Parts: sequence; structure tokens; C-alpha cells
Amino acid sequence: MQTHFRDLTCGDARREHVGRRLSLAGWVHRRRDLGQLIFLDLRDRYGITQVVVDAQEAPHAHAAAATVRNEFVVRVEGMLAARLPGTENPKLATGEVELRAAEVTILSTARTPAFPINEPDQEADEAVRLRFRYLDLRREPMLRRILARSRLVEAIRAVHHDHGFVEIETPMLIKSTPEGARDFIVPSRLQPGSVYALPQSPQQLKQLLMVSGLDRYFQIARCFRDEDLRGDSQPEFTQLDLEMSFVAEEDVMAFVEAMVIEVSRAVVPERPIQHAPFPRFTHREALDRFGSDKPDLRYGMELHDLGEQARGSGFRVFEETLAGGGRVVGLAAPGMATASRSTVDELTELAKRFGAKGLVSIAIEGSGAVRSPIAKIVGDDRAEAMAVAAGASPGDLVLIVADRDVLAQEVLGRLRVELGARLGLADQEVLAYCWVHRFPMYQWDVENGRWDATHNPFSAPIPEHVELLTTLSGDPSRPSPEDPAGRALAQQYDLALNGWELGGGSVRIHQRDLLERSFSMMGHTLEGMRQKFGALLDAFEYGAPPHGGIALGIDRWAMILTYQTNIREVMAFPKTQSGSDLMLESPSPAEPGQWAELGLRFVGAPKG
Ligand code: ASP
Repeated sequence: MQTHFRDLTCGDARREHVGRRLSLAGWVHRRRDLGQLIFLDLRDRYGITQVVVDAQEAPHAHAAAATVRNEFVVRVEGMLAARLPGTENPKLATGEVELRAAEVTILSTARTPAFPINEPDQEADEAVRLRFRYLDLRREPMLRRILARSRLVEAIRAVHHDHGFVEIETPMLIKSTPEGARDFIVPSRLQPGSVYALPQSPQQLKQLLMVSGLDRYFQIARCFRDEDLRGDSQPEFTQLDLEMSFVAEEDVMAFVEAMVIEVSRAVVPERPIQHAPFPRFTHREALDRFGSDKPDLRYGMELHDLGEQARGSGFRVFEETLAGGGRVVGLAAPGMATASRSTVDELTELAKRFGAKGLVSIAIEGSGAVRSPIAKIVGDDRAEAMAVAAGASPGDLVLIVADRDVLAQEVLGRLRVELGARLGLADQEVLAYCWVHRFPMYQWDVENGRWDATHNPFSAPIPEHVELLTTLSGDPSRPSPEDPAGRALAQQYDLALNGWELGGGSVRIHQRDLLERSFSMMGHTLEGMRQKFGALLDAFEYGAPPHGGIALGIDRWAMILTYQTNIREVMAFPKTQSGSDLMLESPSPAEPGQWAELGLRFVGAPKG
């Protein structure tokens, strides 16, 4: 990496270079002044090389080095020497050598940074890190993650090109493509009163590319969603977006799975992939077994239906729940039989916070004895039978939720995740990918009296459910909760990794009439459809191949691969929870001239 300023990077020097006169350039990572000798650790993104400046050997260089401070940018020319035996540093790749300075040139001075660059383990306030992100990126952990992310994108590109995908950039200034969030809009200067939307995803465009015959498309796509930010979301984020033609669900899943394995091995070869092929669960099965549509498979502790054991138990809560069509479900927390009363109370509070009415516990002591607040009512034998059905062994604590179908599983699923973390059940090294598919096409929106797509509004039903969509109940333009289509399952698949949703996709409806039927279930009028999806609906009249695809969140993927839990840690320049860029100080008030040019006037913040 030789340039005008340097012969080697700060990570390159080895024994074989000893005896050569050469130049290095970089940042002063640390400086030790021993009087006659000054040591500079010179750093760049490739590594650190020790520089020795000896007052006798090089008085000018020594005088310059005496004025140098941490984070100055310097160029050092000198002779590469082997370090004296016993002074080598095995922690550095360059640790066997040092540069004996003949000349030290200061290329740039530096103020003292708000946090130390050379002590990466020292906590720094995130707001300060974001304000000085260019300094934060100098720190080793942040740098390492950004490099890993770059390798991730590189590997993604390589695999797709190897498999005949065409990389296409779709525009940023488009028309709304709904993904269930609010659009960011950009007012048009040339067409006053009109706006562009920034893409929530390239969904419609990638489908149009299939109509164009591109066959296989992918993009490292920037997406924008104006949402209230949660811990792991950002107003703009990056997806690996892809679409394929002439495919069934199986084809997309097979390609994506092979691609994900290849990419994971390229980026983090040291991390084992728990199961390949990836386990597949129907949405229903995932809820019943893990209480989640993104199950963490790094540990067991599965949910079990205890309906059979609870029926006729005499415990009112169980009986009433079952009579009302609800579910009694339990899981066995390993080794928690000795949990204190206050721990159980705390878990009960948690279950309530997650939406359940309560939590029942059964402890199976090491001796096999049963201890439970309901033992007096249901009897020891039945309590034990329930514990066994929940998968408990002696020493375990069984937790039971009785509630509405799905709510019961979801509450217990969240407890499962909580306990998994508390008990440290997950192997942190493992990558446990799995598929969840066959989601319901729609869910009934009580408030608006229509169906909503549970995922992507363009998804196709599974082949055996197409008829449900075309079987009309009453007026097709008036959705009703009784519509048979409400029972349809979609060819929709989500990919989960270690308890996070990595992304999802589907096989799409490629027939205009069926898509219109599906949109009308979601309350769209013909005119509304024409406005929102006109190009796609028209395109479907010119020969649309069967097609499907997926999008995976690259930020989240990079986050998990680098052991993080916050996507800001893998983004070079993220925004805060309130959507601000603390470094560039955006968003910022528009200049009056800008409003005028767009024909706009700011009338104050919206009420409510
Ligand atoms: N466009 C979808 C999303 O952003 C992904 C897909 O169905 O391909 O979630």
C-alpha cells in the first residue's frame, strides 16, 4: 500500500524488512517520553508500528517528536530494525520490529479528543461518540465492526454475481411503496405541490424488473421508514433486496439459505452454524413451540400444551380458559426449582406486563417432590403430570400461562427469551438460523373494518388457498371478518437468527385480477389501487412471470455477526432514537429561501 507518503502501512512491517530505510505515516496512538528516547506507537487502520526516536541518532527528529501529542498525524522516515531480544511485543503483528526514526514530520496536529482513542475498552457516552463519530471510528472495536460489515457486503455481492443475479440501483425519489410505515416525502420544486416518497423498500420496482425479464435482481438497498424509533431501528437502513423469476417458495428459500451459509462462512468462519439445512417451522408451529415468530433455537425450553392435563383439574382459571377456547401452556426452566418466592413474583409481574392475567408455577425439587400453589387444588399427581408434560426434570421450575390462544404462547415465549438470557442458556458463538413460513395472508383490522396484510401486501396465497381468495362472501368491495380469504395462508417466509428477525419475503401474486381481489380485501378501491399500484397492475397485463423474493436487514445481520445488540454499533453514521444526526446536526431548520423555492410555508408543528 505504498503511496507518496509511505512505503508500508503501520500493519505491514516484519522481520523481512529489517535493514530497509522506509517511511510510515499514521496517527500517534501513544507517546512515551524517556528523555533521550521517545517512543511513538504509530497507528493506521492496518495496525500499529513502534517508532523509536533517539536524541543522539537524530536530534532534529527528536525535537519534532518532543512536540508530538496523541492523535497527531506524522510521517516518519528511518531504518527498520529488529527489536532487542526480550522487548518484542507478541500482541502486535509488527511486534518483532521497530522503526528507528531519522526524520519526523508533523502532517497534522490534533486537539485532545473527547474520549481516548487508545483505550477502546473505556466506556464513552454514546451521544459524545455520535457527535465525534469520525473519532469513534478510529477506535479499534468500532473499526473492527465496520470492516466486518464491509466484508459482509462484499461476500453478498460475490455470491449473487456468482449465481447470475443482476445488481440494479432503483431510484431513491419514487412514489410510495407501502411497507406499513410512514413515508419520508420530498417536495418537488419543478412540480409545486407534488412530492416524491423515499422508498420504504424497492418492492414494486423489483417486481417490475421481473416483468422486464431481468430474471434475477439484487441490490444493497437503502430504505427509509418514518417510524417512532425502537432500539434496533433507524429511519434509514440497508437491506439486501432480491427477486427471482419462475420460482416457487422452495426455490427462493433454497437459494437464500445457501447464500446465507456461504456469506456467514466468509465473514465469520469461526462461528458455527447450528443447523444446516435451516429448521423450518410453520408460523403456527413456531408460536406453539416457541411463542414467537422469530424463535431463538440456541436453547430448548420449548412450550408445551398442557390442555389435556389441565382439563378437569378443578382449577378454575384453567377450566374457564379451556372452556372459552383458550390455551394452557407451560415451559420448564432448567434448574430453577430453587428460585425464591420473590423471583417467581417478579416473573409473574413480567407475565402480566406481557399481557397475561397471571402465572402459575410448579417446582419439581431435586428429590422429585412437587411444590406449587395449585397443588392443593389439583393434587400432587396432576401437578406432577403437568410438569412432566411441560418437559420438566427434577430441579426444574415449570411456568404456566392460561389465556387466549396465541396470547398465552406469546407471553410464555417472551418469558422464555427472558429466562434464556438470565440463565445464560444460549451459546454466544453459535449462529442459529431458521425459517418461519406459512403466515396468515391477512389479519382483521377491527378499527377500519378491513383486512390488513400480515406481511407484504403483494404476497401470494399458498396454491391450495387461492380458491379462498376467489370465493366471495357477499360484496367484494366490502371486506368482512367472515371472508373465507381470511383463512388463507401466504407463501411468506421469514428468516430468523438467534431470536432476531433477519428479514422476510414471499412469492408474489402475478395475476392482475387476483392482486386486485387481494387489495380490495385490504380496503382499497379500484381508483385507490390505480393511484398507488397502477404501474404494477398495468405491467401484469404485459406478461408477468411467476416471481418471488426476499429482503434481509444488513444492519441487523452485521450486528448479530459482530455480537452486538444495537444496530448503531455497525453503522458508520447512525441517527439517534429521535432521528438526529448529532455530528452533522440534522435535521436542521430549512432556510426561508428553501421554503419559498418549493412554494411551501411552515405553519407550525401538527397538533396531537
Ligand atoms: N419488501 C419486503 C420488505 O421490505 C421484502 C420482500 O418481500 O421482498 O420487508
